[in-house]
Amino acid sequence: METKKRIEDNLKCIKDNIAEACQRVRRDPQEIRLVAVTKTVDINAIRALLELGHCELAESRVQELVQRNAMIKESISRHVELPGASDGNRPILPRWHMVGHLQRNKVKQLLPIVEYVHSVDSLRLAEEINTAAARLGLNDKVKIFLQVNTSQEKQKYGLAVGAVVALAEQVETLPNLQTVGLMTMAPLTGDQESCRFCFIRLREIFEEIIDRKVCGPYFRHLSMGMSQDYITAVEEGATMVRIGSALFE
Ligand SMILES: *Cc1c(COP(=O)(O)O)cnc(C)c1O
Repeated sequence: METKKRIEDNLKCIKDNIAEACQRVRRDPQEIRLVAVTKTVDINAIRALLELGHCELAESRVQELVQRNAMIKESISRHVELPGASDGNRPILPRWHMVGHLQRNKVKQLLPIVEYVHSVDSLRLAEEINTAAARLGLNDKVKIFLQVNTSQEKQKYGLAVGAVVALAEQVETLPNLQTVGLMTMAPLTGDQESCRFCFIRLREIFEEIIDRKVCGPYFRHLSMGMSQDYITAVEEGATMVRIGSALFE
């Protein structure tokens, strides 16, 4: 099947599943943003997605994010030069989410491009982002999520459950950062009950931060749910789901 058609069908299927999950738990589907994780796909698939009007993209590595962003920009500028190509339908630009582990030495490269960093899991990284944002003279605060290791698997990135509130408090003192929510990855076994357990745990920490007024009014997102478990995540309160394979395969 043609790439674009396949992605369009997958997109519809995912949106339908989200809508059904919302209905079960009486949520408004508008509250949930679908972030397309493009790490496994080629530039044509990304273009197809943008043409379908979907602009929220995610990568898990800085290098790829930077390269793909440049490729898309280049391809769009070429497209616009074609006669008639810009009539009425301006190509939309991607809005990038960084969802993978972030090394401090890559921050400077990333910040001018990215809109959300989902993977802040240490004070040192938060401070690096704060300093780099000041040096780059960015107009807006950098929107970040604190990543939590809710499954407590040793090999995983993310803060220990008990360390999240304290880091949230410290990040509030950094003027160029805005903590918009919490992010987690459930175990990759796909067992829905263990996934649900992780999502509930993330929501509990989220509610604690809200109750204690640690963060400002922008703290309202739960970034949880991937291809294997996004339906469960929506049932448990996700506001951003990060989906790759279910969208592109
Ligand atoms: C790859 C990735 C996803 C998407 O995974 P799929 O199973 O392809 O949907 C989501 N979040 C993070 C952090 C990832 O690295």
